[in-house]
Amino acid sequence: MRLTTDTREAAVRLRDGGLVAVPTETVYGLAARADDPHAVAKIYAAKGRPADHPLIVHVANALALDEWASFIPKYAHLLAAALWPGAMTLVVKRSERAGDFITGGQDSVAVRVSAHPIMDETLRALIALTDDPAIGIAAPSANRFGRVSPTSAQHVIDEFVGIIGDDDLLLDGGTSSVGVESTIIDCTDEVPRLLRAGAITVDDITRVTGLKPELNSTVRASGTLESHYAPDAEVVLTDAEGLATTQVTSNARIGVIAVGTIPTPTGMVRLAAPESNEAYAHALYRALREADALQLTTVVAVLPDAHGVGAAVIDRLQRAAHR
Ligand code: AMP
Ligand code: MG
Repeated sequence: MRLTTDTREAAVRLRDGGLVAVPTETVYGLAARADDPHAVAKIYAAKGRPADHPLIVHVANALALDEWASFIPKYAHLLAAALWPGAMTLVVKRSERAGDFITGGQDSVAVRVSAHPIMDETLRALIALTDDPAIGIAAPSANRFGRVSPTSAQHVIDEFVGIIGDDDLLLDGGTSSVGVESTIIDCTDEVPRLLRAGAITVDDITRVTGLKPELNSTVRASGTLESHYAPDAEVVLTDAEGLATTQVTSNARIGVIAVGTIPTPTGMVRLAAPESNEAYAHALYRALREADALQLTTVVAVLPDAHGVGAAVIDRLQRAAHR
């Protein structure tokens, strides 16, 4: 995988059916053009992802949603108009554009417009090359299946060294500002349904649509498996008091993730000390990766409050802790 900052070169590679790892404001994605089954198959192979797990299609703007959907409820149009580009994915009834190889055979498709300028530039270049304003690229998180999502170009290299060859590219876009995956909203019914928590919150959805989203789901979704986002180190969830009374045994190497006001107990390694829920989300995956780089046995995390992106942080930490 070769590092570049040239979005036109990346667009050519995508046009020709290759893989390009792309920065987004949530996490880095591993992209291929979404209308090419052979290109998309390379994503599944590189990630080691089961073939029935659907992918998110990234498009340049909300107009393209109409091309990928066969039906869009009014509230979904409101969400797209108010919150795109941004950390929000909408699941809609699919049009003929969305093949089974993208949707995992489901009759719906997930669509997002990212706010990252490099993603935007890449999609515009691809539109110019293909003359298709609604062209999409499938871009699941650029990590091996079940592992911690990458929030920097170096994380992507760490995931795919030896797996992806130098014909395929990695666009460097700095660190992902949000740090956890997009909010996924199912828009196939009369009322929106939250499939995955993210930086766009239930309150945002209600404010924009006037509707209270449903919260439980049975839809197939890899980011919603009980165990996901897991480092090699064991993740243990606790509160400030539990942290203070945690015993460090002689062969344990323990890392701590907690808001900055909570002190690091003697003998433990501080992995992150965020001052807000936004900072917690931004630091979370880097901290989990650092735990493995330092060969820690355990990560003790004090959960943030559920305000704003805090709900998504709690969700990811619970999955990381699930064995
Ligand atoms: P990732 O891009 O790795 O964050 O994962 C893509 C996720 O998008 C999937 O695991 C699902 O959670 C969701 N998704 C994609 N397509 C659909 C769909 N048609 N219906 C429901 N969820 C979907
Ligand atoms: Mg993922």
